[in-house]
Amino acid sequence: MNNKVSIIMYHYVRSIASSRYSDIKGLDLVLFRQQIAFLKEYGNFISFEQLLEAIDGGRALPKKSVLLTFDDGYIDHYTNVFPILKENGIQGFFSMPGKILAEHKLLDVNMIHFILASTPIDKLLSFVYDRLDYYRGNEFDIPANEELYIKLAKANRFDSAEVIFVKRLLQVELEENLRHLIVKELFNKCVGMSEEAFAQELYMSEDQVRLMSKEGMLFGIHGYDHYWMNRLTQEQLQNDIQNALQVFDGIVDPNHWICCYPYGSCSETVIDYVKSQGAIAGVTTEVALADISVCDRFILPRFDTNDFPPKSENFKCSN
Ligand SMILES: [Zn+2]
Repeated sequence: MNNKVSIIMYHYVRSIASSRYSDIKGLDLVLFRQQIAFLKEYGNFISFEQLLEAIDGGRALPKKSVLLTFDDGYIDHYTNVFPILKENGIQGFFSMPGKILAEHKLLDVNMIHFILASTPIDKLLSFVYDRLDYYRGNEFDIPANEELYIKLAKANRFDSAEVIFVKRLLQVELEENLRHLIVKELFNKCVGMSEEAFAQELYMSEDQVRLMSKEGMLFGIHGYDHYWMNRLTQEQLQNDIQNALQVFDGIVDPNHWICCYPYGSCSETVIDYVKSQGAIAGVTTEVALADISVCDRFILPRFDTNDFPPKSENFKCSN
């Protein structure tokens, strides 16, 4: 009896080489098509409902089960991914921050991606240090640059230590007002497009989301502001989740929803709260095969698209 599923996580899925931002970290559309063809041959696509039924009913999953998840609400998911999933009869699980739909604002997390894609890292580091030096002691209390670097610069599977330093510093380490200020300044300097125009191009619209939902795609909750949820106070967490639920009214069932923790940022507190608000499962960014006979349904691990062909041949099979 199979209890395992490969849950795969995607972000940008677009024609990258020919795009204005050829250094953006994402999956090229050609490779996405190849990956779907490979997975179709290799395994069995399941929906999130099927996964939950298997968890609830102790039922077996199809052999080599595969579940596809798409984070952050990019237009790529409507234009590129949705037609391919439809054509192949696959249900995708999509989750996007509520703020995108409600306010059409460009999120800091995405500004950071395009700052990094537009600027050589050495140059960017000097811009960042310049801003830290400027604001230090100037109404903000900021540790020394070297101290911050030692604390944050830890390379991961996909990013160098320098890149992680910039990401963590601007995603979560500095206080919110300050990091937002610096991100905006760097976006203007490095990308130089109006945030409104950029947001219009980058994300799906509510009509597109509703259409996909109507056509059988499943939407989850990814917070409102794309915060690291495990770093929020209880009150901030409540606001973030409640605002997100409100925005997705009519798209996400408030008594039966799946939480996709931004950056995989869950904790016992976060899980207890989302459970109390109608969540029935959660996906993280921990990299593993999900074994539903042992794994908590609120911390389901996910592979990255780069863990499977054509990007990698070393994928771990589910049985
Ligand atoms: Zn996200």
